[in-house]
Amino acid sequence: MPLFRLIYFSENHLDTSKRVTPQLSAILSISNTNNRRDNITGALMFDDLRFTQALEGERDAVWRTYARILEDERHRGVTVIDARAVEKRLFGNWWMGLAQRNRATEQAFVRTGFPGRLDPQTLSAERILGLMVEIAQIGLERELRAA
Ligand code: FAD
Repeated sequence: MPLFRLIYFSENHLDTSKRVTPQLSAILSISNTNNRRDNITGALMFDDLRFTQALEGERDAVWRTYARILEDERHRGVTVIDARAVEKRLFGNWWMGLAQRNRATEQAFVRTGFPGRLDPQTLSAERILGLMVEIAQIGLERELRAA
């Protein structure tokens, strides 16, 4: 089955009267359930202002997921950065991983050219994917060390 990958960014529109972490957890929880069912993998980045997400899987399944995401009021201004057929998955171990900026991942942001906030004007699919893959790898190594 041919694979497809879609990358977009959007503006955060989470409920400001509630804590961010449980709202992010709710998004990740339903994403993990649905993506496992639909055989979709990927990564979600959040930096207070924006979401950036990569979704990979069978073409129709990716577009179906994206259509649901597009309607979600927890973000707005959803803008596709890249959508293309690909040879292989980059996030094979993540149904939907949270690629967070924290002490463990900060160097990956700097190394891949994101010393400050992600600027959508200069965001390229290659750079954002490079960053997400590095963070996924860091997460995997931490899991292995903890096991
Ligand atoms: P539903 O039964 O419609 O919803 C499941 C739960 O999600 C509900 O119990 C509710 O608590 C919560 N919820 C749904 N919509 C809202 C809302 N507008 N505001 C607050 N809470 C709500 N879904 C995926 O399947 N895969 C993804 O990779 C994915 N990534 C996302 C990334 C972002 C940045 C955002 C904002 C959402 C993402 N979602 C993703 C969620 C998606 O937008 C839909 O909410 C979800 O797919 C609906 O799934 P459902 O119909 O099975 O569940």
